[in-house]
Amino acid sequence: MVSMKRRNIRVALAGNPNVGKTSLFNRLTGSKHHVGNWPGVTVERVEGTRVHNGKTIEFIDLPGTYSLSAYSKDEVITRDFIIKERPDIVLHIVDSGNLERNLYLTLQLMELGAQVMIALNKSDIQDRKGEPIDIDLLSGSLGVDVISTVANTGKGVKELLDRIVERASSLHPDPEPLKYGKEIESRIDSLEGVLKDAGNILGPFPRRWLAVKLLEGDDEVLRTARDSRLWPRINRVIGGIDAEELELQLTDARYELAGKTAASVTEYTTRKRTMTDILDSVLTNRYFGIPIFLVIMWGMFQLTFTAGEPFSELIDIGFAELSALILEDLRPEWLASLLGEGIVGGVGAVLVFLPNIMILFLLISLLEGSGYMARAAFVMDHIMTRIGLSGKSFIPMVIGFGCNVPAIMSTRTIEDKKDRLVTILVNPFISCGARLPVYILFTGIFFPQAGGTVIFGLYILGIAVAIGSAKLFRMTILKGSPSSLIMELPEYQSPGFREGVKNTWEKGYLYIKKAGTVILFGSVIMWLLANFSLDLSRVDYGSRSSIAGQLGVVIEPLLAPLGFDWRIGVALIFGFFAKEIVISSLGVLYNTGESEQALTDSISSDAAFSPLNSMGLMVFTLLYMPCIATIGVIKQETGSWKWTIFSVFYSTAVAWVAAFLIYQGGVLLGFG
Ligand code: GDP
Ligand code: MG
Repeated sequence: MVSMKRRNIRVALAGNPNVGKTSLFNRLTGSKHHVGNWPGVTVERVEGTRVHNGKTIEFIDLPGTYSLSAYSKDEVITRDFIIKERPDIVLHIVDSGNLERNLYLTLQLMELGAQVMIALNKSDIQDRKGEPIDIDLLSGSLGVDVISTVANTGKGVKELLDRIVERASSLHPDPEPLKYGKEIESRIDSLEGVLKDAGNILGPFPRRWLAVKLLEGDDEVLRTARDSRLWPRINRVIGGIDAEELELQLTDARYELAGKTAASVTEYTTRKRTMTDILDSVLTNRYFGIPIFLVIMWGMFQLTFTAGEPFSELIDIGFAELSALILEDLRPEWLASLLGEGIVGGVGAVLVFLPNIMILFLLISLLEGSGYMARAAFVMDHIMTRIGLSGKSFIPMVIGFGCNVPAIMSTRTIEDKKDRLVTILVNPFISCGARLPVYILFTGIFFPQAGGTVIFGLYILGIAVAIGSAKLFRMTILKGSPSSLIMELPEYQSPGFREGVKNTWEKGYLYIKKAGTVILFGSVIMWLLANFSLDLSRVDYGSRSSIAGQLGVVIEPLLAPLGFDWRIGVALIFGFFAKEIVISSLGVLYNTGESEQALTDSISSDAAFSPLNSMGLMVFTLLYMPCIATIGVIKQETGSWKWTIFSVFYSTAVAWVAAFLIYQGGVLLGFG
């Protein structure tokens, strides 16, 4: 005997991207999530459960889609799940501000024979705009349940749960199918006739849906049909027709119904030009959009660097004091040196930039929360697409000015695998905050009058190399064109300082963690290598006979064509732990202690440095292999050692060639 197991209620969440699906999913399930992958693809599959009124409800978050054609794997995952796993309810999260576009998907879900329920989300914005939606009318005209929700406050969630439990025990009758006009309907009838006695030969899909898909020329359905014994009979019906033309007609019919329904249920009580309309007419303007964006970015960096400085100085002083105290009072002497010069020196050099990093992230978070970042991506999309990147690659680039680690993590929002890979691979060329100290030191010594211009030029060079590399990758190893950016621009809203502060703190914490782990580790290693010779006896700190010095001597031939001597070589090797370490290594090797002035003096009086090779050194520091934390995150996000290693070699090769051209070119022109 088969034992009866009381089934849980299964609810699948479907909807366009950015409608609030994840927010609502979190509200519905609380904190109990299970994250996995859909079989065979790297699209995340998130599930969670909730007990409500004595019933266990399982929620499955489907990928965000605009349609249910077979054009993307997200669409195929969604429709296969609905058909093959037959959830009791497909909860369609609808953005009430884009009713027509969203209902287009609702109609397709209904065609698929799903038991659809609508959560009319972002209803708060709709109310604010003075365009409330008549819920009863919408529910009546589609024949499905409609519940109004505000996912980020939780409004409507309880009612939604009540309705889910209620509906699961008394399902709606099958919805009335959408009719497509006489000519198409007669073909649908013929195909349904062919399919009638064939069981599930084309899969467990509804007959009418299969007929429609065959007429549309759906790749997946056609493939199964071609392999089946029904093909001759099917081909007789669809053989002569122009599938593309028919697909257009079907799409039009769905849009027409979606549009009519949307218009009939929206009540324009006080339709007025909203603040968003007014702001967008300026901020996304064809001519002003990009200049305004550049000014905002410039202001953001300006504020990052200036507002951070007093705090950075305080931290700098704190660490210098701490280091001096340790060196004076702590014994044995080697321990004092390890702690004071190695650890505090190395970690301090990085933590000094914490204020800048936090300010930058606070500003980015505020711009995101206000809705502006979506506009920025929108105005940049055209340019980004032309250079072989998706509009979504743009935000990681901006974040990269702070630090490439979170920038590369933020590429998770890019669904297309190739787009994402290109974006990850070029991101390290975006000049992060860690490279700035190197620029400041050397421009201060060799280009004091044109310091600002030189630094600005380095940032532009980084962007140019990123863009050039993206184009190159797109033409060679990652052929293809970027997916276009379809995005709904959210309403502007006041950015929510609590969220911003929380976000900033999280990013700041990650940075501190980096300092406490990678940098700490790197600093200890550096201290060891600079203190001991190959036979493990203690030598003069950072002398040529130390292991570090020996390393420098080994790679000197490689760097000689760039005009770099062994000390620069060592500094660059250590810079692999974090690019700030290029500076602190030079400090160690020149044995100048903590004072920046002493280092400046030694460099300007050392014949190993000239304006020409220091320019090359800045460019090399900008472009050469990513730091260890960035390499770690590249491995984590690409899941591939192959691409990680590629990134290291490619960037180092580019850096070498660039520094070579600068140095040798300069010598030829007589600047040497
Ligand atoms: P998903 O892409 O569909 O998973 O959407 P998310 O859950 O990530 O939400 C997208 C954005 O819409 C986020 O900024 C949310 O805070 C916001 N959001 C979600 N639901 C609502 C809502 O009901 N009202 C408002 N005003 N914003 C919402
Ligand atoms: Mg989501």
